[in-house]
Amino acid sequence: MSTSKTALVTGGGSGIGAAVAERLRADGHTVAIIDLNPAEPEHSYVADVTDRAQIDAALAEIHSTLGPVTILVNAAGKDSFRRFLDLSFEQWQNIIDINLHGVFHTIQAVLPDMIEAGWGRIVNISSSSTHSGVPYMSAYVAAKSGVNGLTKSLALEYGPAGITVNAVPPGFIDTPMLRKAEARGNMGDIQATINATPVRRMGKPEDIAAACAFLISEEAGYITGQILGVNGGRNT
Ligand code: NAP
Repeated sequence: MSTSKTALVTGGGSGIGAAVAERLRADGHTVAIIDLNPAEPEHSYVADVTDRAQIDAALAEIHSTLGPVTILVNAAGKDSFRRFLDLSFEQWQNIIDINLHGVFHTIQAVLPDMIEAGWGRIVNISSSSTHSGVPYMSAYVAAKSGVNGLTKSLALEYGPAGITVNAVPPGFIDTPMLRKAEARGNMGDIQATINATPVRRMGKPEDIAAACAFLISEEAGYITGQILGVNGGRNT
């Protein structure tokens, strides 16, 4: 376990982000959550990651009440399924805004604390869809591929400052986002996907939280710029 730090988890109100927040709390960290709908009141802040003013305001409050933020997990995200030719530029932009520009805003907002501390851990939740591409998910896959590229560049830029930057692209994790997509008929046959997954099960949010906890630990200090797939061996 690492020494206790202050962590920020975006999208911490649901699914993967909520599991990451719970795991980091269990590991002894103080955890702040930013979400559109945070599930629990303690250290939760309502903010939209696409809105820099809201992010800066939340960060100022977190900094003054909980201290400098030296751990950031970017889990806020939104999926999108639409034929490329049916995708309006506004719809494209909305998905890029949430999944890529949101990561830009939060990282820029927390980096000064990490630089000041001479230590930092950033984990970006991208998507296993970036390994292969997925039809009807062009905007989402483009945004998440941007997150992977941003991760690699920032790892090089801020390694000398004591900050590691890694990405975890999840695949097929049982969360509200996935179940909503299933209900809309976007997920195909869940059992067929399980059968095509080498470990023969869906992922759990806790599987992603475990990978994040490791990348955040002191022991992972020599690991940066990596894209650590957590996908049961499918689409890797
Ligand atoms: P989830 O249950 O929908 O959780 C995502 C959270 O992010 C929700 O609480 C959502 O709030 C919040 N959020 C969305 N837009 C936001 C914004 N603009 N500002 C602040 N918060 C916002 O989804 P999940 O499956 O846990 O996904 C977590 C991350 O993993 C996402 O980045 C997703 O793309 C990625 N991922 C998931 C899977 C999977 O299999 N589940 C696979 C690949 C990648 P609302 O509910 O109010 O929108």
